[in-house]
Amino acid sequence: MRALSALELLSVWERGQAQPPAQRALTLLAAACPDSPPDALAKLSIGQRDARLLTLRERTFGPQLVSLATCPGCGERLELTFSVGDIRSPSPCQGEVGEGVVALSLSISDYEVRFRLPNSLDLTAVADQGDVTATRRLLLEHCLLAAQHNGEETATDQLPADVIDAVVERMAQADSQADVRLALSCPACGHQWQATFDIVSFFWSELNAWAYRILREVHSLASAYGWREADILAMSPWRRQFYLEMVRR
Ligand SMILES: [Zn+2]
Repeated sequence: MRALSALELLSVWERGQAQPPAQRALTLLAAACPDSPPDALAKLSIGQRDARLLTLRERTFGPQLVSLATCPGCGERLELTFSVGDIRSPSPCQGEVGEGVVALSLSISDYEVRFRLPNSLDLTAVADQGDVTATRRLLLEHCLLAAQHNGEETATDQLPADVIDAVVERMAQADSQADVRLALSCPACGHQWQATFDIVSFFWSELNAWAYRILREVHSLASAYGWREADILAMSPWRRQFYLEMVRR
């Protein structure tokens, strides 16, 4: 993986405008990993994908993250500052990898289930389902590979609820980077809770703010000096800031 230039980042941002979040994540990774086939990136488990996005975020905007949260107890607005290292999962994705897909198996109460971890192709396939429960069930169906009951093949849609729950829990354990939670505590009322952190939407909203800022800078410099957009974007941020200060005097 390599860091992206200002020009490349803008082009990713532009392509991602019309894309759903799962596709934006792949557009970012494809630009940063030109040697990985797009199909291989799409087959990474969500945790593997997010680990790579964290690395790319660190190389693009640095290791520090600043996020906002609202206390569900009293409505106080909190500013959270943490680092990429704080939310990196200590245990990387588990399971055997075959043809780019991570497969796992589980034995529970006479059942033996083989399944794989959800990837970007699954997320894209189940998007637009509307309600969360239907989306989750469909996602799970995509990921169940085979099931046996007392040694006999059985249909994966016939599995009892406790077996399904165990599979879901095993998936979360095996791909812990896919579900990052921040333990929060409100300084105003003492309420404690957990907030989900989604690197895709976080990184994309940062990229959005960055793109608006840099396009305004290009506008100012191009208007003042007549320079081309590509030349302005190719400058280091320090040199760009210097000229901007000259223009604003
Ligand atoms: Zn509070």
